[in-house]
Amino acid sequence: MQTKHGSAETPFCFCPRCGRQALVPHEVKAYRCTECGFEFYLNVAAAVAGFILDAEGRLLVTVRGKDPGKGTLDLPGGFLDPHENAEQAIRREIKEELNLDVTETIYLFSSPNQYPYMNVTYHTMDLGYLCKVDHFGNLKTADEIADYRFLHPSDVKAELFGFPSIRQMLQLYISGPMAGLLKNH
Ligand SMILES: [Zn+2]
Repeated sequence: MQTKHGSAETPFCFCPRCGRQALVPHEVKAYRCTECGFEFYLNVAAAVAGFILDAEGRLLVTVRGKDPGKGTLDLPGGFLDPHENAEQAIRREIKEELNLDVTETIYLFSSPNQYPYMNVTYHTMDLGYLCKVDHFGNLKTADEIADYRFLHPSDVKAELFGFPSIRQMLQLYISGPMAGLLKNH
């Protein structure tokens, strides 16, 4: 639905400072109020995704229990909280989503993503981490996770994953320069 100034992708049109309907897109990631000059930035949001391998080298993946991407495969992860670093975030997300304790993290690669939620498309930068988990006995999924699977490397197909950035990360996982490290970890 088009509004006077906003659009379906970026529906902001009212200025949060003066309240007038005068907010218009300004450069690539900002809005500017034509009445009072207020500038509102929609900066890229940082997010994390975890690659967890079991003792047999199988990759732990989740099945999304809610939209966006409900029913597709995903990696554990999510958005960073304020004042949190990415290593803390991936440990927290894996604890929240799977009740697993990460003992070591190794940064792998990053991939840009778009996250549509409630008629707003957020631009994110997903950071991929190799996450060491020693014990899987406490594995228990949160409500937002429909199920989980351990995939043998030959069964990891990028097209089964819902998000473009995760698919791109899976391609790097399967064939990129980090594949040897992942398989030997
Ligand atoms: Zn204004």
